Amino acid sequence: MPSFLDTKIEYLKGVGPNKAELLNKELGVFTYYDLITYYPFRYEDRSVITPISGISPEMQQVQLSGIIKGFKQIGHGRKVRLVANFIDETGQVELVWFTGATWILNKLKAGIPYIVYGKPTLFGRTINIAHPEIDPVSDRNSQGGYIQPVYHTTEKLKAKFLDSKAISKLQKELLVQALDHLYETLPGAVIQIHKLISRKEALIYIHFPRSHDHLRKATNRLKYEELFLIQLKLLFQKNIRYDKNKGLILNDSSLVTEFYNNLLTFELTVAQKRVIKEVYSDLRSGSQMNRLLQGDVGSGKTVVAFVCMLIAISGGAQTALMAPTEILAEQHFNGLGDFCKKLGLRMARLTGSTKKSERKIILSMLRDGDVDIIVGTHALLEDPVQFKQLGLAVIDEQHRFGVAQRARLWQKTENYFPHVLVMTATPIPRTLAMTLYGDLDISLLDEMPAGRKPIKTSHYYDSARLKVFGFIRDEIRKGGQVYIVYPLIEESEKSDYKDLMDGYESVSRAFPDLAISIVHGRMKSEDKDFEVQRFKKGETKIMVATTVIEVGVDIPNASVMVIENSERFGLAQLHQLRGRVGRGSDQSYCILMTDYKLSKEARIRIETMVKTTDGFEIADVDLQLRGPGDLAGTQQSGVLDLQIADLARDGKILQAARSSAIDLLEGDPQLLKEEHRTIKWLISSQTEEINWGEIS
Ligand code: ADP
Ligand code: MG
Repeated sequence: MPSFLDTKIEYLKGVGPNKAELLNKELGVFTYYDLITYYPFRYEDRSVITPISGISPEMQQVQLSGIIKGFKQIGHGRKVRLVANFIDETGQVELVWFTGATWILNKLKAGIPYIVYGKPTLFGRTINIAHPEIDPVSDRNSQGGYIQPVYHTTEKLKAKFLDSKAISKLQKELLVQALDHLYETLPGAVIQIHKLISRKEALIYIHFPRSHDHLRKATNRLKYEELFLIQLKLLFQKNIRYDKNKGLILNDSSLVTEFYNNLLTFELTVAQKRVIKEVYSDLRSGSQMNRLLQGDVGSGKTVVAFVCMLIAISGGAQTALMAPTEILAEQHFNGLGDFCKKLGLRMARLTGSTKKSERKIILSMLRDGDVDIIVGTHALLEDPVQFKQLGLAVIDEQHRFGVAQRARLWQKTENYFPHVLVMTATPIPRTLAMTLYGDLDISLLDEMPAGRKPIKTSHYYDSARLKVFGFIRDEIRKGGQVYIVYPLIEESEKSDYKDLMDGYESVSRAFPDLAISIVHGRMKSEDKDFEVQRFKKGETKIMVATTVIEVGVDIPNASVMVIENSERFGLAQLHQLRGRVGRGSDQSYCILMTDYKLSKEARIRIETMVKTTDGFEIADVDLQLRGPGDLAGTQQSGVLDLQIADLARDGKILQAARSSAIDLLEGDPQLLKEEHRTIKWLISSQTEEINWGEIS
């Protein structure tokens, strides 16, 4: 394989050991390969010359062509500045330097044609350009390219003269030497079908584009390649895992029939039935299931999970249902308890607060196979928790669990892998899901149970609080219950806590006749449970809370969600919170309170929430606003450190890349064909870094 590109960067002319060390540390550039794939993050268009009469201070950058008519120094002592009078046929403008006057006066001469590049600013009533880039016209012409790459650098690099221009020079040096070593990576067929330019051309053009057309083709080619290799790797891993990881064959559904006939009080939605079928076919396949179930808040994931567990239990296996918080584990335990009793199933619960003596009994029952369903929290992942035969693990609200934690499930069984169903209520845009979970099978619950009314969302400024309190009172009079949520962001916990307490007081004063619950993270878990139960039973009408109620708590009678300081929440969180209401058949409301002053982004978030209840639409806006790296659940994955592609913008390329990867693997599942040798090498050489197979 191409070893030339593995050469250490210090051997490149113009680098040497000292600069090499900086490039290592500051940019993660160790080898020729690293440098050549260190792409510009933007380009400056130097093809357009603006006439001086056309300059306005709103312009970001302008390029001028003219001559310096003369210099003058203005001011005294340390405040002295050098001003040059620069003219073309259309007018004149001032170039200004606040430092380095002597050096400039040495370098620049009046009367010679220069190209000037910089940001025009309004200074008093005249426009000037401070510290412009300035080169003789003759130099510019010999450089040729008018689209200039701009590379990210750091202060430390700049101090050693490694600014963007210097990096560009290194790229030039390297490309000349590397020309014969820039092999094609993509199979010929893929290049042809997608009309891609060669890798060699792409690498030259990305660093030295001669036209916008070059640049577009180069970017497209390199993005395609990056996304294609990721998709190919994910799908290849999935194939391998599918062949290798044996799962129990579970093909009995007698308990499901009993549940449908005697206990289920509503009709499943078409989507729920479809997902259950998908899971059932996985469970019968003999291979380990690794499936992600995406369904918006309220789409009815719990009953789907329960039916899947019933299939596993009918087949003689044990099942686990894992929730991210004790409140949720409790809720699942209580919610499913009745069904279990009627079906004659043995159920247990294990959380961090399970008493030692009880814990011991549960652990031994699990080992002996005397428990069919264990419901719990992270506590289920601990080593002493061993099963007789764990067939299916369901992980609810996946985004709260880390990758490594989930991998611990693998160790709970010996001769086979437990089937895994991961459920998430955080809708993820398709492009992200294909990358983050590209090696999982994905099921979608894209339909809400019948009879739900969409939640009405409105936005009020804090000054309208009295009106909002009036509305709350009316809703309670009609029999509803109300959440009032405050943000609690860890760093500023103290002041947030104070906001919550102040809020609680003002609500208590406004509703002296009503019992009010309060729940927050500093309370003991018994106390929290007690308050949640009081609210659930309807003894309290208002619950003032921090975001502890964000995930999953199900109280059908709650019909109003008031979110205080809602400008401080992200879209995903707002959507989650809103999902806590609208669970019954009555009309529900979400009220977003904000300060009068809103940032542009906050305004977009609030407007989006008011406009739509569709979780996928909201997730798309979120992706556009924040970029993929910050979306819920993606932080620790490392999968999203893309070099050139952008999942928020390159959805089309991604789709195309994924479908070519699928086609390619269909024709050559093991990648054994001669023409696939390079890509096989490429995708396996990186496999050790990220354990893709265990991302689920
Ligand atoms: P989530 O997907 O947010 O976990 P849940 O599973 O908690 O949603 O379901 C929300 C509510 O909808 C529950 O009260 C559940 O009993 C009810 N539900 C689920 N499926 C249906 C259905 N097909 N028809 C009517 N109600 C349903
Ligand atoms: Mg749920």
